Amino acid sequence: MADREFGFETRTVHAGSRPEPTTGARATPIYQTTSYVFEDTEAAAAYFNLQEYGNTYSRIMNPSVAAFEERIANLDGGAGAVAFASGLAAQSAVLFTLLRPGDHVVCSSALYGGSVTQFKHVLGKLSVGLEFVDPDDLEAWRGAIGDNTKLLFAETIGNPGGNILDIEAVAQLAHEHGCPLMVDNTFATPYLCRPLEWGADLVVYSATKFLGGHGTSLGGVVVDSGEFNWSNGRFPVVADPSPAYHGLAFHETFGVYGFLTKLRAETLRDLGAALSPFNAFLLAQGVETLPLRMRAHVANAQTVAEFLQSHPMVARVTYPGLPDSRYRSLVEKYLPLGCSAVFCFDLPGGREAGRRFIEALSLFSHLANVGDAKSLVIHPASTTHRQLNDQELTAAGIGSGTIRLSVGIEDAGDLVWDLEQGFSALEAAP
Ligand SMILES: *Cc1c(COP(=O)(O)O)cnc(C)c1O
Repeated sequence: MADREFGFETRTVHAGSRPEPTTGARATPIYQTTSYVFEDTEAAAAYFNLQEYGNTYSRIMNPSVAAFEERIANLDGGAGAVAFASGLAAQSAVLFTLLRPGDHVVCSSALYGGSVTQFKHVLGKLSVGLEFVDPDDLEAWRGAIGDNTKLLFAETIGNPGGNILDIEAVAQLAHEHGCPLMVDNTFATPYLCRPLEWGADLVVYSATKFLGGHGTSLGGVVVDSGEFNWSNGRFPVVADPSPAYHGLAFHETFGVYGFLTKLRAETLRDLGAALSPFNAFLLAQGVETLPLRMRAHVANAQTVAEFLQSHPMVARVTYPGLPDSRYRSLVEKYLPLGCSAVFCFDLPGGREAGRRFIEALSLFSHLANVGDAKSLVIHPASTTHRQLNDQELTAAGIGSGTIRLSVGIEDAGDLVWDLEQGFSALEAAP
């Protein structure tokens, strides 16, 4: 049994989860505890010195959280993972771990609105330079990388324009310059795409979305391939002895776990955005049905996107799974099982048409989230992307009449019926 390489579906259910040794509980319990009794003072010292692995305090580690981390690292093929209280907390933790004033980051311009705001303002406050590039333009990526660039960042499936990242090409470019590529794989999930297999170094998730899958719990996670060479001269912040951990040199001491150990033992310790054990339990449980849900999400998204594309009142549908998508060859390479279920379409008539359409829907819930089993709808220009100026909106592919859908796992015919209610409301409008 040990020799067998288990399939993805088996690992979504079993990875990270083993019967609890003292009670035999098959489900990983919710270890709702802040702290752990040490065997003796020597063991306590060894844990705090990172000489031995042992639980100390739940801001840094917790068995329910560890089970979730192990499951995601396994599904992505990473060396390990560290979970956080939210997707943005996970991203902040990477930024705070890697960057110092004077450093520079290159980002895709087609990002989740919250990520654009986070990168722009947090990095600005830290005096870290930032350049946004068109993610489809390899020469723009190349041109933006400078001597002090420390990170490239993009989404597998761009938000909300549906840009598909050429992960292999951008990773190669990053590595030519000694930089890591971090990919936000929230929309694809490891079921549809595993960026580490294409050369990405770090993968970040908002587990709040498809991983958890039910719109109940915030969470985030960083997965590390363990393969990036942090001792290449560009990252003294990871390679050199750390003053924040009594002179420990993380990469030299922990090898493939060097970055992850620093991320946990320093950054999570200091920023404190720990995932709660209860949320870890719910998120890990969500992952058990990830393949089943993603197959249903993808099939429904395809049906809904094709319905919208053939509708005379729709100007544009950004679903990269449509046959005439300009990302077709990238989809075949990176997303052979489908393009997830979040996309936009444009209604002529701008803001007012958008409002009227959304108000006529009854199955689609109007709210600011994606990746729920339930279908969701929102008007990005007035909500999620409200902080962006017109130029940034255009760069992100959003117009005033753009509607974003997150297609759920309901009956596809019912979803099309609901959208028809929206169009009827537009036709009835004066
Ligand atoms: C929601 C989301 C985030 C942020 O995650 P939170 O869990 O809300 O902090 C980041 N990236 C993408 C693509 C998202 O959809």
